[in-house]
Order: sequence, then structure tokens, then C-alpha cells
Amino acid sequence: MIYLDNAATTKMYEEAIEAYVDVCKNHFANPSALHSYGMDAENLIKETKKYIGKLISASESEIFFTKSATESNNIAIKSFDGLAITSKIEHSSVYNTFKNSHFDEVRYISNDNYGFIDEDDLKIKLDNKVTFVSFIYVNNEIGTIQDIKNLSKIIKGFNKDIVIHIDATQAMGKVSCDVEDLGVDMMSFSAHKFHGPKQLGGLYIRKNIQGKIKPILDGGYQEVFSSGTNNPPAIYACGIALKKQIESNEYTYIEELNHYLRKLIKENIKDSYIISPIENSSPYILDVAFANIKSEVLLHMLEEEEIYVSSGSACSKGQYSRVLSSLGIDKKYMDGAIRFSFSNEITKKDLDFTLKVLKDSIEMIRRVI
Ligand code: PLP
Repeated sequence: MIYLDNAATTKMYEEAIEAYVDVCKNHFANPSALHSYGMDAENLIKETKKYIGKLISASESEIFFTKSATESNNIAIKSFDGLAITSKIEHSSVYNTFKNSHFDEVRYISNDNYGFIDEDDLKIKLDNKVTFVSFIYVNNEIGTIQDIKNLSKIIKGFNKDIVIHIDATQAMGKVSCDVEDLGVDMMSFSAHKFHGPKQLGGLYIRKNIQGKIKPILDGGYQEVFSSGTNNPPAIYACGIALKKQIESNEYTYIEELNHYLRKLIKENIKDSYIISPIENSSPYILDVAFANIKSEVLLHMLEEEEIYVSSGSACSKGQYSRVLSSLGIDKKYMDGAIRFSFSNEITKKDLDFTLKVLKDSIEMIRRVI
């Protein structure tokens, strides 16, 4: 199997699975319990918060666990009202949440053909009514790394009280997520994107704005803004996975894989268009469009050879991908985008084989249409 769908989810690290099982077996008490066995489980949560806090230049009391990055994004956005700023290239868990929020108005900042936020448009749209801004850090469809530090400077320079949230789901463990350096107040992440368990998200909330955050689930308020018995096995495994992802030193190797596949496609497949920028882009994600191809058909042809990718076009209800539509891509490419996303289990030999199957499949599709 050649698994090139790591932006959708990753395989859990062995160490994270072992940690998960160990906590299930040996530290299974309710972390809210007052007895020492419960405190034992609670300590694993504290230890993980401490590790993540240190990693992103925050304190343990600024890290909250949620069920997913989707929940984190909901908590962040639904806590505020007034006037918000965001973009059209957000993940649906941000984009759709704005539609269900209490904001009087949501302003969308335009982006260029590579998905970079237009700073001039941001400066024009910032005014005294703006209370909240949310931007995606690493784009999940095309990999663009937004210059958050610079955007924060512009926003805070205009009004330091504007709250900045970023969705760092595709960034955590892969690019620097130092909240002080980035200048953000809230940051969402998700364990299953860095080889941790699914349904375990996190939200960093800067201490001085915690009083403004509204709980998304009422109950025991175990994680203050979310309720329900905490999940020590998943939380502990999340910390172990993040540590291993950080220590993997795989970035350069992933970059090599990305550049290798780019080159293979460019040189061997006619009418292909590399959507992901080469600079300021996460090497983990490579989005490529093939003219006059239906990506779903291509995806299933690759699947027959046990190559798993994602359809970058994600055409739903007759509508093109919001992200691709914002990039001004030629219509002939709009249906044919495929997202390849890497892990360090992939080899160049895997990519040679992927290219061969890709080329044969595209030629076959083009012959019959
Ligand atoms: N934000 C981004 C950028 C994502 O890529 C994803 C997952 O696809 C999410 C949010 C949602 O993450 P979760 O699956 O933890 O809800």
C-alpha cells in the first residue's frame, strides 16, 4: 500500500499506540476523581499540557483538550460577536462555523493564486468594528503556509484588542507553532494529523482572554470550555505522538519527496498544473491538477493499485472546491485536482510507481473522453 493521504489522517505511531494501551490498562480511573488513582490519570493530562505548553511558548493552564480541531474552532469562533475577519480558504470547520456564529458581519480577505492572504485587502478591511480574526495557518488543500507573524503584526498594530485565532491543524508538529512568535491569542490543533489518536483536539487560549470564552458543551466543565469525562489515554498518546513528530527530523526528507514528485509529474504528464506553491508551503502537501480529468475517477484508478490519495477538487453539490475557486485556476483544471500528502514511510520508489500508475490512468481517461 502507498498511503499518500496523510493530510486527511495519519497512521498512529507505535509508541503512541503503546502509550494509549498502557493508560487504558493501568491508569484507567476518572481523572476528575478525588482518590489517588484518579489523580494518577489527572497527572498524565497535566504532564501532556505542560509538554505542549512548553513547545508553543504557553503555560499549562492555557492548553485545553477538546474532541477535535473542529470543536476547538467552534469554541474559538462562537465565543465572540461584533465584526469578524477571515478568508475563503478556511477549512469547513471554520468557514461553516462563522455562518452559525453571532457576528453582525464577517469580512472575507482575498488571496492570491497561491492562497496567500492579500495584506492590502486586510489593511482596507480592518476598522474599529473588528473584534475577531481567524486564519488558517497551513492550508489543508494546497499546503500554503500563511505568514501569520506578519498578519498578526498588521492586526495588532491596528488594534491590540482584536482577538486572533489560527487553525494550526496541518501545522502542529511540522512548522513552528510558537504562539508568542506568531502573536496569536488562540490556536487549534488535532492529534490525528501528527500520528496521534483521532477525536482528540486541542485549543490554546491566551490567559488574558479566557474570561471571554464561552463553553460549547455544558456539564462538568472538565476542560472548562468543554464538558464530559476527559480521555487520558488519547491525551497522553497525543503528547507522545507530538514529541515523536517533533523529534523525527523528517522535514528535509519530506521536502525531498515533495520536490521529487513535483518534478516527475511536471516532466512526464502533459497538461498538469502544480497548485501548491514551491515556497512558503508545507512539503507535506502537494496539490496537482490534471486538465480534463475527473479527480474522483483518477482517485479510484489509483486505489486499484493500492495508492491512496485525496480528491483535491472535492466537488460537492455541483460546486467546485471553495479553495480552488479562489485561486483563479483555469476551468479545464478545476475537476482534476489530486492532493498527495506525505509521511516518512513513503519512498522515492513508491513515487516512481505512483507516477507510472498516474500517467497510465490519465492517458486512459483522456483516451475515452
Ligand atoms: N482544520 C484543518 C486545517 C484540517 O485539515 C482539519 C482536518 O481535516 C480540521 C480543521 C478538522 O480536524 P478534526 O478532524 O480534528 O476535526
